[in-house]
Amino acid sequence: MQLGNTPVTNHQFCGLHFYLKRDDLLHPQFSGNKARKFLSLLEQPPQDIEKIVGYGSPQANSLYSLAALAHLQNWHFDFYVDHIASYLKQNPNGNYAKALELGARIIEVPPEWKVGTDNTESALKRYLCESSDVLMVEEGGRMPIAEYGIKGLANELIDWVASQTNSCEDGPLESRQQWVVALPSGTGTTAFYLHKYLQPYGIEVVTTACVGGEDYLKAQFLQLSSTQSQPTIWSLDTKHHFGKLYQDDFQIWTTLMAQTGVEFELLYDPLMWRVLLMHKQKLSGKNLLYIHQGGLLGNESMLPRYQRKFANC
Ligand SMILES: *Cc1c(COP(=O)(O)O)cnc(C)c1O
Repeated sequence: MQLGNTPVTNHQFCGLHFYLKRDDLLHPQFSGNKARKFLSLLEQPPQDIEKIVGYGSPQANSLYSLAALAHLQNWHFDFYVDHIASYLKQNPNGNYAKALELGARIIEVPPEWKVGTDNTESALKRYLCESSDVLMVEEGGRMPIAEYGIKGLANELIDWVASQTNSCEDGPLESRQQWVVALPSGTGTTAFYLHKYLQPYGIEVVTTACVGGEDYLKAQFLQLSSTQSQPTIWSLDTKHHFGKLYQDDFQIWTTLMAQTGVEFELLYDPLMWRVLLMHKQKLSGKNLLYIHQGGLLGNESMLPRYQRKFANC
């Protein structure tokens, strides 16, 4: 199965013109940046794999994407979590519910597996004997195998940008136009590998740290490669906590939907858009290409939380 070549659409938001790479449309189940990261497991799977094991939050986008991958490949899939809220167990929704439907086993890590300040990852590595038919996937897909699929995305962007430049009659002036590719970061894996392949073409990758702030993100980049060349990071001038509900986030998400007709996801996209609007003057004279990284199923759990909290505002 070959995935790729998602469309690019064209929008206006708060006076900012931008293009949108629709990676949310990659595949009905296996879409967004988790699909790009895990694409090599679909196209060139290691031999003799019977089962994949992952861990993370019970509403993680990677849970659903891995469930979809395992389903497509006929693999067993165990996903370990620290805790499943009893409300969620009784009222499954979002990524959690859809992953269960695709056959995922979602397992709370037994407390006795953890010693001292053990994190889930080291507890799992100790308890799940390494076996050649089991593949363990890092949380959020922070792993070198992610480079393959993200490189494919970068190549699509390079071809698309080239096609835009060539089709302009204006010649030299247009072709000198600069391109900025923007996307929010969690682990930073997607932004980092995009930067690696886009930078040689003079395309700047701009991101923001949704998890843990700028220093954490820079450290994540360094874990992927010791190269000093990293994506550009822009930030708000106030602290922003991952997974917390902010009225400004909800507001910008709602406005985006109203002005573009596109549903963005609620955990990462609102912060990136607030950052882009705040740094708007740095974009003047440049072309903005935003990557829609999917994750819309997560909105099924986020949206009701927002509506409960800010319904009367
Ligand atoms: C996982 C995810 C991100 C973060 O991607 P990283 O490669 O970890 O930086 C951003 N947006 C969406 C929708 C995601 O699912």
